[in-house]
Amino acid sequence: MVFFKNKDEGPDRWKDKYLKLLDDQEHVEKQYKANEELLCKTIVRFALAVKGLNRQLDPHLNRIRNLLKGGLQSQQLQKELSAFSNALIMLEESPESTLLDASLLFEFLGKQYPQHQDQLDEIRGKYESRQFSNNQVFYLALLELLEDNKPLASIDLALELTGADAKAINIQLIRLLDNAEIPLSFAEDAEKIKSRLFADQALGPIFDDTVALLLAVKKHLESEQQEMAAFLSKLTDQLTELGVKATGVNTANEISVKKRNLLDQAVSEQIMELREKSENATQLEPLKQIVSSRLTTITQQIQAHNLQEQQEREKAQREMQILSQRLREMESESSELRSKLDLAQHRATRDPLTNLPNRLAFEDRLIDEMARCRRHKSPMTLMVWDVDLFKTINDTYGHKCGDKALIVIAELLSKHCRETDFVARFGGEEFVMILPGADAKSALLIAEKLRKTLENSSFNANGNKVSITLSCGISQFVDGDSNESIFNRADSGLYSAKQTGRNRCVVV
Ligand code: GH3
Ligand code: MG
Ligand code: MG
Repeated sequence: MVFFKNKDEGPDRWKDKYLKLLDDQEHVEKQYKANEELLCKTIVRFALAVKGLNRQLDPHLNRIRNLLKGGLQSQQLQKELSAFSNALIMLEESPESTLLDASLLFEFLGKQYPQHQDQLDEIRGKYESRQFSNNQVFYLALLELLEDNKPLASIDLALELTGADAKAINIQLIRLLDNAEIPLSFAEDAEKIKSRLFADQALGPIFDDTVALLLAVKKHLESEQQEMAAFLSKLTDQLTELGVKATGVNTANEISVKKRNLLDQAVSEQIMELREKSENATQLEPLKQIVSSRLTTITQQIQAHNLQEQQEREKAQREMQILSQRLREMESESSELRSKLDLAQHRATRDPLTNLPNRLAFEDRLIDEMARCRRHKSPMTLMVWDVDLFKTINDTYGHKCGDKALIVIAELLSKHCRETDFVARFGGEEFVMILPGADAKSALLIAEKLRKTLENSSFNANGNKVSITLSCGISQFVDGDSNESIFNRADSGLYSAKQTGRNRCVVV
């Protein structure tokens, strides 16, 4: 069995490798040592830098700084780092941990403004008992106190404060600037002051400059707030006015109301959006632009709506005019129709020769009068008249003379009856007469009088004076009568009159 083929693969090669490894190990250890020293230095510097930021962490940081002198391997350092870590966790978990140690700031302010020591103590009490909702409010309370108040005495701060204290105050001031809402126009000044604070310049002037800047910022924010309040108040008025205008739009019809509701909705949405943006706005200029653009949109919507309303109103007016015209035409047509109807009715119920009501009208009237008799229990009598030997008149003087005779008879009958009586031409040379309120007896008297009047009258037939007589049958209405039964009785009276010599009246 062969293990090594040549020298390179023999025992000498392993020896060289082992020696090289030892060299490497030594080099790594040196490197590690240097890194450890650098790390220790960094931690010490860091601990120094954050000193004064928190009262609870400061003792831990002091101990860590001291322990670091013994190197990173120290057991105590491990323990302290673990304790620091726990303190840090406690600090993060506890809401109280957000309270910064402002004792140095209060001490400093007390020296600068001794005349306001009481107020400073009061603010400090409120700050430490966490009565301020946030740091911003706390800083504003301080600024309000310092505003318009110059320090009583110019103190040489460099002499009064140790370097560490001054550094802690600088950190407080940087935090104050970071927490404050610095508008763009002050951003550059704020950055310059922060750079000076970071550079640890002399505290006196820089403190004054910081306070001056913060006061200017506060004034600017206040005036912007006032301007915004005035602007929003004006905006509210304008929106109210717009709302009134939108509500006042024509409510004439349902469609209009629906459209108006849509407009109201659109305007309300715009206003809501506007209000939301106004409330959330922190800068006036962009807000003004948003408001201006929204108002333009709302105005355009209202104008478009008004235009549409006007067009629809005009259209409705035109339609109304057409409808009115159509209505007038229909009224005229209807009145024409009514006249025609009246004429037709007249024609239907009148005898064209004598202009007396015809048989149809008579039958209707007879039914009505009988019903009235039944209701009022009053008497009523019917007469049936027939011209005696009329055929002879026609034959002697001609049909036209016969017609003339009929016209004369009709006139005489109408003229000599009472106003309440009803005369009609029943047909041919027969006439009928209804006498409401008259019994048979009084009717006979009237009939006789009429008969005599007719007998004594004459008419001109081709230059000849011709006398005519009429016979009459009379019958009074009795209970149970129909129009036929009463007529038949009267007609039988007429028949009797004819049979008994004509020119007479017979009551049946
Ligand atoms: P009586 O006394 O029996 O009633 O005899 P009369 O001639 O009157 O009776 P008749 O029934 O015989 O004759 C009626 C005549 O009346 C016949 C008809 O030509 C005539 N007559 C009916 N209607 C009209 C009319 O409208 N105009 C004219 N000129 N004659 C009519
Ligand atoms: Mg007859
Ligand atoms: Mg006759």
